[in-house]
Amino acid sequence: MPKWIFVTGGVMSGLGKGIVTASIARLLMMTGLKVSAVKIDPYLNVDAGTLNPMAHGEVFVCDDGSECDMDIGNYERFLDKGLKRYHNITSGQVYQQVIRDERKGNYLGQCVQIIPHLTNEIKRRIRLFTEIDDTDCVVIECGGTVGDIESLPFLEAFRQIRLEEDSSDTLFVHVTLVPILDVVGEQKTKPTQHSVQELRRIGIQPDIIVARSEKPLATEAKKKIALFTSVDLKSVISNPDTESVYSVPENLASEGIVSTIYEKLQLGNSEINWGDWKKISKSFIGNTEEVRIAMVGKYTTLADSYVSINHALAHAGAQQELKVKVSWVDAEEFEDREESLDTLGGYHGVLVPGGFGQRGSEGKITVANYCRERGIPYLGLCFGFQLALVSFARYVCGLKDANSVELDPNTPHPVVDLLPEQRDVKDLGATMRLGGYEIHLVEGTLAYRTYHKKVIRGRHRHRYEFNQNYKGIFERKGMVFSGFSDEGKRVEIMEIPNHPFYLATQYHAEFLSRPGRAEPVFLGFLEVAFRRKYKAQDYSPLMKKL
Ligand code: GLN
Repeated sequence: MPKWIFVTGGVMSGLGKGIVTASIARLLMMTGLKVSAVKIDPYLNVDAGTLNPMAHGEVFVCDDGSECDMDIGNYERFLDKGLKRYHNITSGQVYQQVIRDERKGNYLGQCVQIIPHLTNEIKRRIRLFTEIDDTDCVVIECGGTVGDIESLPFLEAFRQIRLEEDSSDTLFVHVTLVPILDVVGEQKTKPTQHSVQELRRIGIQPDIIVARSEKPLATEAKKKIALFTSVDLKSVISNPDTESVYSVPENLASEGIVSTIYEKLQLGNSEINWGDWKKISKSFIGNTEEVRIAMVGKYTTLADSYVSINHALAHAGAQQELKVKVSWVDAEEFEDREESLDTLGGYHGVLVPGGFGQRGSEGKITVANYCRERGIPYLGLCFGFQLALVSFARYVCGLKDANSVELDPNTPHPVVDLLPEQRDVKDLGATMRLGGYEIHLVEGTLAYRTYHKKVIRGRHRHRYEFNQNYKGIFERKGMVFSGFSDEGKRVEIMEIPNHPFYLATQYHAEFLSRPGRAEPVFLGFLEVAFRRKYKAQDYSPLMKKL
């Protein structure tokens, strides 16, 4: 039977509980255990696909086409392992199952209730991991903060699992915040005390407290937390701010979290085999050579809206000893004021990420054209691919009012059109073209030189695609299509020769980027952006690093 580690959060959201969970999972993996990581989202959506990334962070897509919470992306990056639909459990899924079972008559005669029916369904889903994943240890993070009404059934299920399993098979990690009030400068432990009280009120006593704080936790603060929460001193783990999230596993390990977990779960002696992890995490630290990238989007307010892109840029930067400075630029700025385009000249590269809908799209189309004309390195992802095509149609092929039918259903030139299999789709949830597909690259192209491979895999999330009726005109005007999927039916990559770097992908290249193994288009994009910084020859000594 595997061991179960439950991770809960207190005080407030956004503490980096996902990073703590991913780090614990990574550390245990490096001790030789087979580890699964699971995210529970207590919201009623069946999956994250219908959530607004501006409010909830990005929708991460797994190879199997599931649209998941962004923490699944963190788990994939830390564990370097592809996860699946069942690694992200939501209240929506659990309620849907229970209500479906009730309609079938599976509970005939019973009054269907949160306890035991919903909690039983939660436990069933959690325990399923022993059957579907070959695993020694399941690390389960419950989203939200203790005290939320929505997460109560999940925490109750965790409590029951603890009662039902051997006491050495379950462990509770509670992640909290220890703030410092500027005037006093003292680390305040009261919020942690209160949040543990809240957890105890529902019958859960944490075994380990991971305290997020600006600076390392002072011994006094640790002692206080240990005393008031009945957790032994060595199980109060300090988790201060770091320059890079990839340093968190080492920080937690230096606080002894692995030996504490091993001791409590009676796993014997632990030894971490770091492999190349320390080398990789170090590559994110102390890089001063700055490359400035403008990210042109609509969801410019919440950094988490594009978290995988930020990671992919950071991965590519770290591998080339560069510091990537990402500035979000609101696409709407370029709509009426053409002169704002010149501000783009101050960046070394421009990235237009995925997106939906009208707002800001005209600005992105103008930006795609400006970068093409001015030789500014351009990377387009999904929507950024589609709008680069629209811009090429209008400005190079002379197709007036060309557009994507998503933005103008009556356009005379639908260069980006609805995917044929989307025509009868009515529901919006989980109905896009989703997940991993094989992509065949065309030899002799930038894409081929970038990947050094004939066949790659890319993850998708879209309803619209390039309309190949226009392929001939585009090619005659100089565009190169360098990647295809579904036996040539789908165009996946476009590029413009005789430009320093102008490449866009229909797939979301960002989802497959890993620390130490950045996604090749991000590496290529940054390499050329860096060259733009130093223009011509004088970059050569630095280029050796690339
Ligand atoms: N809105 C576009 C489509 O549905 C692009 C989607 C995206 O960028 N993820 O095809």
